[in-house]
Amino acid sequence: MSTIFISPSKYVQGSGAIFELGQHVAPLGSRVLVVGGRTGLAQTKAGRDKSFADAGITQTELVFSGESSEDAIAEVSAAAKAANADVLIACGGGKAIDTVKAAAVASALRFVVVPTVASNDAPCSSVSVVYREDGSFDRLLFLGRNPDLVLVDTKIIANAPVRMLVAGMGDALATYYEAVAGRATGAVNVPGGQIPETAITLARLCRDTLLEYGIGAILAVRKNVVTPALERIVEANTLLSGVGFESGAVALAHALSEGLTTVPAAHKYLHGELVAFGLLAQLIHENTPHAEFSAVYGFCKSVGLPVTLAEIGITTAEELMSACEVAAEPGRPSHNLQSPVTAESVFAACQSVDAISEL
Ligand SMILES: [Zn+2]
Repeated sequence: MSTIFISPSKYVQGSGAIFELGQHVAPLGSRVLVVGGRTGLAQTKAGRDKSFADAGITQTELVFSGESSEDAIAEVSAAAKAANADVLIACGGGKAIDTVKAAAVASALRFVVVPTVASNDAPCSSVSVVYREDGSFDRLLFLGRNPDLVLVDTKIIANAPVRMLVAGMGDALATYYEAVAGRATGAVNVPGGQIPETAITLARLCRDTLLEYGIGAILAVRKNVVTPALERIVEANTLLSGVGFESGAVALAHALSEGLTTVPAAHKYLHGELVAFGLLAQLIHENTPHAEFSAVYGFCKSVGLPVTLAEIGITTAEELMSACEVAAEPGRPSHNLQSPVTAESVFAACQSVDAISEL
């Protein structure tokens, strides 16, 4: 089997970068449909209006319904047709982004992602998460194409809630450990190939960047300012983690997050928060040497990522076991570990993580 690496065609990041959107979109088309929540549309409006006028691009806006569902994908596709658009642009969070990516591929159009939070891996990837109308997880849609452009204005990210940035760090922190686990067990990556060294190296850079600049980035967002540390963390959360997971692999950290989403008590926690706890459980499951585990655990604690079951809403052994049973189901990425994974072994790892806070 060949190794395969995939990524967006162009990645642009900087303070005020939204004012450069037009020049980067111009090679892709001249009639764009912009989709986002009211906040995402408002935060990007001045930059879009100015740079599109300069580049001779006409735009139509569509307010996103809020759920990444089959209906929303159909609505965006219909709006693109009505506007005779040749490029779709998502301005917002993970759900708006996933909807636009899916609609663009279904309509054979170019697509651009302008994330307004740095909380997840949606911007750079060729995968969309589809939810049912009630908000529950439905399935992953493998689109076969990455965005033509990802443009991140760090000034916009600096004005988003700190919790979103920290959750993005949790999702990003797991990337290296899951990719290494996947390569050791011969996991097939999203594009259907073996994991290239490039993905491992980018994932390692992602982890090292988080450990080095995570705290500095939080300080910047607390004051709504852009610093070099914030630039490094936005790049780690959005680009390095995005390409690292997609050309790498996911493993127990993500499998446990999937299991936890089936427990109502954990619903109010963000994807990256659940993944962070899942990562700690994965490291225990892999019997990771103390120094390495302590570095990850200490980082999570220092930035406010959950390190106990209570911090992800789990208060009973029954709730935990039901999440572990889902995580250990056949076909879940939990099996990208070298030691056999069962509900009991995942449960034991989670309980061990939880016990650390009692030391
Ligand atoms: Zn993730």
